[in-house]
Amino acid sequence: MPSDVRLDSPEQEHFLRELIDAGLLIESGVPGVYGHGAEFERVRAAFAALITEAGRASGAEQLTFPPVIPKRNLETAGYVGNFPHLAGSIFGFEGSEADARVVRERAAAHEDWSEYADQTDLMMLPAACYPLYPAIAARGPVPPGGVLVDIGAAWVFRHEPSLDPARRQSFRMHELVRIGEAEGVSNWRADWAKRAVELLSGLGLDARIENASDPFFGRAGRLLAANQSAEELKWELVIPIAGPEPTACASFNYHLDRFAETWGLRFADGTAAHTSCIGFGQERIVAALLRTHGLEPESWPEAVRSRLRLTSDEEGAGGGPRPGATVTAW
Ligand code: AMP
Ligand code: ZN
Repeated sequence: MPSDVRLDSPEQEHFLRELIDAGLLIESGVPGVYGHGAEFERVRAAFAALITEAGRASGAEQLTFPPVIPKRNLETAGYVGNFPHLAGSIFGFEGSEADARVVRERAAAHEDWSEYADQTDLMMLPAACYPLYPAIAARGPVPPGGVLVDIGAAWVFRHEPSLDPARRQSFRMHELVRIGEAEGVSNWRADWAKRAVELLSGLGLDARIENASDPFFGRAGRLLAANQSAEELKWELVIPIAGPEPTACASFNYHLDRFAETWGLRFADGTAAHTSCIGFGQERIVAALLRTHGLEPESWPEAVRSRLRLTSDEEGAGGGPRPGATVTAW
């Protein structure tokens, strides 16, 4: 095992083993990178559908981005400076025939060939929302009332190898982003924090909101985290899974006008817009459901199955709601 793997609690490691033995997760050989069995994915998709529906009901525009992002974007946004320990950069080979022969030999022997890899223009996407801000800014002035976007469940990467099944290196984050006037944006975040607690409590989970901060790197990072916490810019919805502390399963972030200043998101009169994003950690929510209700979704309480539309009479192809199904209020 690589030396940078985070040590986790015995309960977390035991839960990981249970999920693998039940075929819900598929090991890759690297901690924090798993395939999903059909049942895991069915529950994940069913939950994602509830968020998508809620977004659609609020008039959200759906935009989708790939799991890689221009390095320039993350440099401009401050991600590389603030989270160098979590960032993933993509390297590619641009060498000669002779170099390629060395790489072939070393790769066959699983030896180090990194000196033949050069940094490309791309990095791994670390959170679903990063590509969105410049894309909206490129449209011109933010319209009065702002915009609401559902980015869907994007694959994201964070370099944090761990044996906690809820701490992945590659996972899916479903984000909704609101860009608009300060008051509207801040109220939107507060409304969603409330709605999310209702939604997850309605799925039988012990959910509550906590003030939180991001894991900024190093000593300077501790100051940034303290400021973020003092200004209540990050709330997390936490649920007990297998750790000694409850796990953050969703986050509600308010960036004030920081991203707007970075990307030039302004109204026609020149005022900077405010932005907020909320992110649901898909695998964590499925893990919380499996830990709370058991490893067989077929045996979950009827109310939970029905809210997720997993019951056979309501089920659409592949889980989730049928097209045209009525939206359940929660
Ligand atoms: P963040 O941007 O860190 O607030 O992440 C948004 C959401 O993604 C969190 O609330 C978690 O539910 C989820 N998440 C963050 N990091 C991980 C991870 N390493 N593995 C799985 N889910 C994660
Ligand atoms: Zn975000």
